[in-house]
Amino acid sequence: MMRVARLHQIGGPLLIEEMPVPEPRPTDVVVAVKACGVVPNLKNVLTKWPEWFPYLPLPKLPAIFGLDPAGVVTAVGGQVLSIRPGDRVYVNPARGCGSCRACRCGEIVNCRGFTFQGYFGRGPLSQPVFEAYPYGGLAEYVTAPQNALVKLPDNVSFEAAARFGYLGTAYAAIRKSGAGPGSTMLINGIGGTLGLCAALVGLTIGVTRILGTGRTQALLDRVKALAPGRIEVFAVGGRPVHEFMMEATGGEGVDAVIDTLPPGAPPFAMLDALRGLRRGGRAVNIGGVAETLPLSVHWLMGMNIQLIGNCWFNTGEGQALAAMAGAGTLDLSCLQHRRIPLADINERLSDLQDANAGFNNFVVIP
Ligand SMILES: [Zn+2]
Repeated sequence: MMRVARLHQIGGPLLIEEMPVPEPRPTDVVVAVKACGVVPNLKNVLTKWPEWFPYLPLPKLPAIFGLDPAGVVTAVGGQVLSIRPGDRVYVNPARGCGSCRACRCGEIVNCRGFTFQGYFGRGPLSQPVFEAYPYGGLAEYVTAPQNALVKLPDNVSFEAAARFGYLGTAYAAIRKSGAGPGSTMLINGIGGTLGLCAALVGLTIGVTRILGTGRTQALLDRVKALAPGRIEVFAVGGRPVHEFMMEATGGEGVDAVIDTLPPGAPPFAMLDALRGLRRGGRAVNIGGVAETLPLSVHWLMGMNIQLIGNCWFNTGEGQALAAMAGAGTLDLSCLQHRRIPLADINERLSDLQDANAGFNNFVVIP
């Protein structure tokens, strides 16, 4: 048997219960969870999601949540040839239906049934996916498809790997932005969980200059200290952000903007950063700004600017992150792991939303 935390009704507590340890299907594995990342948004999902986002369905209740598990493979299905019990892995929770055109092309995030195992789905096709993979990371064991596993080098901790959801999303976004050696990139919201991950990945892949915005000077100073010669920070609230961006680039504007602002952020905060792009620049949104932007598409056209949405990342990008973290080029030592025992999850969920500074890495240890 295994211990799990299960939600029985929206707004209710997660109940700590016992369930049988799952058996792997032929192309699946079973992973003993050693750490599961807990996103600040989890409380919203458990309490308000059906009301806020009726088009983003939750699994039928009772259900086990938990988005970013990392652990040790304990059993493999009969058709799993390259993963063995004992392998250390991060489980990419991105699931698709498996057989639509997008899935057959390897583009799981473009599947109409795209679903986060242990979190929420994106449409009516999600419930069958939840039924195929019903175990979220707030459990001692999860099942996962073999092609969703990121193998972890021995020197990458499970706690650090539980942050791969954010790191991977940031990595995919920076790749789409084209930023790299010689580039200047602005991260809108650099002190948050996603923004800090974008800074760490940007430093790793050679983005030469990283500008970052935030609300708290002390937090911004901490981010700048990661690479004082490459990071410049700007506290919002006084001058417009685009003026800072233009000054920092001699009036040219930045090559790329990665927007990581949280759901409550005002649309003008995003528009302000877009105005600091150079001609031909690219902006990639991975943040949660929910309001509609009054954006001039005529300006986009005339400035030759691209505004791109990015949803999650693929397992290959996760594997690249694991390799970079193992080699030490992706330095995750600034993360402060906040370990939460499974039994304490209900009391701790509220803290997570307040403590949204990116250096805190909240993980549940089942
Ligand atoms: Zn599909």
